[in-house]
Amino acid sequence: MEFPSELKTKLKFSNKVLALTGAGISAESGVPTFRGKEGLWKQYRAEELATPQAFSKDPKLVWEWYLWRMELISEKSPNPAHFALAELEKIKSDFFLITQNVDGLHKRSGSEKLIEIHGNIFRNRCTKCGRSSASDLTKLKQSTECGSCSSLVRPDVLWFGESYDTNLLQRAIELAADSEIVLVIGSSGAVGIPVELARIAKENGAFVIEINIDPSGYSRYADLFLQGKAGEILPNILPYFK
Ligand code: NAD
Ligand code: ZN
Repeated sequence: MEFPSELKTKLKFSNKVLALTGAGISAESGVPTFRGKEGLWKQYRAEELATPQAFSKDPKLVWEWYLWRMELISEKSPNPAHFALAELEKIKSDFFLITQNVDGLHKRSGSEKLIEIHGNIFRNRCTKCGRSSASDLTKLKQSTECGSCSSLVRPDVLWFGESYDTNLLQRAIELAADSEIVLVIGSSGAVGIPVELARIAKENGAFVIEINIDPSGYSRYADLFLQGKAGEILPNILPYFK
């Protein structure tokens, strides 16, 4: 991949780099995206299960789906795209990563300056007392009761129709507004707030680079669209940031 010299200079000398990632970055690890053809579980679409309504109606079914996903994800590993972002964090002093993914693969690849804006599938929290705990798959298969108050626990993730944690969201908006370069990777832009972050970044003068196998809801804000797999493109462009 060859870039014009002006862009090379920008990539080399900008320190405030923000990466926004979605399910597409984990696709090459074998974690299904929601909107891809493997996004179905039994006959259900994610949008039918990842909601507070679905959980009140049938918590057992929703837990069954999450336990299945936890099991699937725990057998997978971070891919070259995750590792490239972990390395970028070491190269750029003001790097930050905001992920919509709940799979924990960014942490496992070494990223530390990370906001998991939609939570993490390997944590649960009590629907009554709010206690949050690391999820133990074997224990959860036996019981989904809170260790303190015996009420039902739920996955500690943001479901469709739920509001963002205000502090996290505020921090994300500040990061977006302050960034010089934004990398949007493997996200469809079907969820409103992450697209807003890209818009805010763009309006505040950031250079927006999108990496996706297909155009998305972010593409209108992209100054540069790199079409292809994140696991191939990110390691390729990483040297330009050094
Ligand atoms: P999405 O499923 O809506 O879209 C995935 C995007 O990734 C698409 O635009 C697709 O073209 C792109 N893509 C697929 N393979 C790619 C590859 N190899 N390289 C680059 N791009 C690729 O995902 P979303 O935008 O993240 O929104 C869905 C919501 O569901 C988010 O909240 C997300 O956290 C959640 N989700 C998370 C996971 C996970 O944690 N791994 C998996 C599925 C869904
Ligand atoms: Zn409790």
